[in-house]
Amino acid sequence: MVQKYYESDADPRTLEDKTVAVIGYGSQGRGQALNLRDSGCRVVIGLRPGGSWQKASEDGFEVYSVAEAVKRADVIQILLPDENQGAIYRAEISPNIRENACLMFSHGFNIHYGQIVPPPTVDVVMVAPKGPGHMVRRTYEEGKGVPALIAVHQDATGGAHAIALAYARGIGATRAVVLETTFAEETETDLFGEQAVLCGGVTSLIKAGFETLVDAGYAPEMAYLEVLHEMKLIVDLIYEGGFTQMRDSISNTAQYGDLTRGPRVIGPETYMAMQEILEEIQNGKFAKEWMLENMVNRPVFNALTRAGEEHLIEQVGAEIRGFMPQFRK
Ligand code: NDP
Ligand code: MG
Ligand code: MG
Repeated sequence: MVQKYYESDADPRTLEDKTVAVIGYGSQGRGQALNLRDSGCRVVIGLRPGGSWQKASEDGFEVYSVAEAVKRADVIQILLPDENQGAIYRAEISPNIRENACLMFSHGFNIHYGQIVPPPTVDVVMVAPKGPGHMVRRTYEEGKGVPALIAVHQDATGGAHAIALAYARGIGATRAVVLETTFAEETETDLFGEQAVLCGGVTSLIKAGFETLVDAGYAPEMAYLEVLHEMKLIVDLIYEGGFTQMRDSISNTAQYGDLTRGPRVIGPETYMAMQEILEEIQNGKFAKEWMLENMVNRPVFNALTRAGEEHLIEQVGAEIRGFMPQFRK
């Protein structure tokens, strides 16, 4: 079984005399930095001039250039976009990092795929909350926490694991649970999850259902409500009580259709595609493709994003949500 840690396993004194530099102040940067500060840690922020800099200053943080923040820090949590981390590391972090500092990540991508190769004199760890930054912040404010993964890639000081655990406690994760993993396992499962199931899988499933109904002559509004709007209601039931509780809540007719037709929708072809997708993650093909895509200013990313935004389901959805008070901003 995987090793689990709770509040009493982490020693907050580990960070007592240390300065944490949070590099980046987006989704994760803001949530983690605010929680750490409220837990009594000394936090500075590293950024370039711009919107995030403004926001971090307004939140009362000392903000420095990335290089300056790194010079001041014992723990450096890199919360920049994954695709930019390698270049920023080489230009601003690597020349300024102290011996025996702790380099930290919330996703293993750059270490696992060799985009960042730290010197042997520093600790390299991961503390990866399993939720978006605003949830990391909100649950902390409610006295709870978002679960997190920790991993040690390199232990130069002998204290890498204790720092990761103390940091996880500082952001509130030990109030939920902290699981021990490796950079390889976190990176590969995270990429597979978002590609095959959570983001890629779900949107493609909804799109296929929507197009099938609309092509057969049903009203797009009906199709939208049936395959997209209701998705959340079903997922909430699965989230709260697994497949069994969801099946207890739906009609017997729905349950029979689910059990007998579901495996026809996700059949052998899908299992084979998932296997291929996983192999491309494991052998670095996906990582290489995404790095090269960024080097040529993302033509595929931009074209596919635009096509997605222009799909009929998005037009219909915007219109329908406009009538529903819960979606009015
Ligand atoms: P965001 O895109 O939300 O934020 C990125 C931050 O980096 C912004 O503050 C941005 O500032 C700053 N930045 C970008 N380029 C530079 C630069 N050249 N120099 C200095 N600062 C720069 O990132 P996320 O919080 O989503 O992701 C951060 C890490 O957390 C990633 O490793 C990701 O995989 C991981 N993660 C993210 C999760 C999520 O839910 N979002 C969940 C778990 C892990 P500016 O305003 O100037 O652009
Ligand atoms: Mg991810
Ligand atoms: Mg129905």
